[in-house]
Parts: sequence; C-alpha cells; structure tokens
Amino acid sequence: MAITEAVLKIVLKYAEDNQAARVVGIHLQVGELRDLTEEWIQRYFDYLSRESIAEGAKINLTRIPVQITCQICQVGFSADIHSAKIECPTCGNDQPTLSGGDEFLIESIEVI
Ligand SMILES: [Zn+2]
Repeated sequence: MAITEAVLKIVLKYAEDNQAARVVGIHLQVGELRDLTEEWIQRYFDYLSRESIAEGAKINLTRIPVQITCQICQVGFSADIHSAKIECPTCGNDQPTLSGGDEFLIESIEVI
C-alpha cells in the first residue's frame, strides 16, 4: 500500500533531521471514508520498516468524521456514513452534502 510507504519515508526523514535513535510512535489522522484500519497499517508498516530505525514503532490512528450538511436547513449533523441512507434529522432531506472523510495526515511522530 503506497500510503504506508509514504508514511515510512516521511518518518525516516523526520528521524534523520532530528538525529533520532529510534522512532517509537506515529500518530495518524485518517478520514472515516478511507478503508484503512490501524491493524492493517501497523502490519504493513512493521513489514516495511524491518531493520530501519522505525522498526517496532506503534501506529496510532485517529478517525476524522465526515461532515454532513443539509442544503435545505443549512444544518450540519452526524450520521453513520456506512448506512444505506443518510437523512437530515430535521427535515428528512435524504441528499445532504458530504465533505471530508478522505483525509490522511501525519499528526505527530515520536522519536527518541
Ligand atoms: Zn434538513
């Protein structure tokens, strides 16, 4: 998965710039619409980072919720984005606007 390779590259560069001995933790922010799990990223990261100073680093993943806005009421609300139908709780509009949810950010990197 290219995204994990990109994370590793950024992490190793960061560690080098900071003359770190080891990378111990990586905090990621991932949009809710992305089909990624912490376990999956961790497993692939472990594989990619073997024999590098990032080997054994713990991946921490925070989900960024999707923003849902009703065009009719101009109200923002939250809903289960995996459900078949998303409705505005106020007017019942079933075609609200979704924004965000596909973010992928490195929030912080812990090095020692
Ligand atoms: Zn509405």
